[in-house]
Amino acid sequence: MAKKKSIPELKHLDHVLVTEAAIRRRIEALAEKINRDYQRRDLTVIAVVNGALIFTADLLRQLRTPLRLDCVRASSYHSGTKSVGKPVVIDNLKLDIKGRHVLLVDDILDTGKTLAAVKALLLKKRALSVKTCVLLDKKARRVVPFEAEYVGFDIPNEFVVGYGLDFAEGYRNLPCIGVLKPKYYAGKL
Ligand code: 5GP
Ligand code: MG
Repeated sequence: MAKKKSIPELKHLDHVLVTEAAIRRRIEALAEKINRDYQRRDLTVIAVVNGALIFTADLLRQLRTPLRLDCVRASSYHSGTKSVGKPVVIDNLKLDIKGRHVLLVDDILDTGKTLAAVKALLLKKRALSVKTCVLLDKKARRVVPFEAEYVGFDIPNEFVVGYGLDFAEGYRNLPCIGVLKPKYYAGKL
């Protein structure tokens, strides 16, 4: 097999927190648990884009339950690497989720504000159940009480990029998750 070309931006990382192989293995384990819990019940997966895009794509291909997919867009006002204020959830759902089992998928659970707001929206639309699956959990940063049923990795309180997560819209295509070298934040921390 041809060797994969390395991405130049990998050199911007100070250190790798979660390797590509570790992500792959963990997603297999998460999917196994989700497959067991839902037992082929119809599922509606709601991904919070853009961050959850890559994680959702890889997770979905391991799920063995009949499912539908939709996305919501959420943004908080960003200043550098800190999100501040109340998240704005754009309700552009095309699917009717009333009476449906929903699996909410996001890249990272940080203050908890985004997922709390999205979950409240889904319950208001009368979803039968809402469970949450996140690849990363930064428990130390929680401001709103929120726990996800499925968590890939607990990580320390560091700003991470890669595998869907961005800094100033860059780095989403890195295959692993890591912390940028300070010079690449260019004083925006
Ligand atoms: P919340 O603070 O509402 O739990 O998280 C909101 C959003 O902030 C996440 O969905 C993610 O887009 C972004 N976020 C939080 N922590 C990080 C991080 O370490 N790296 C990146 N790239 N985004 C983050
Ligand atoms: Mg996000």
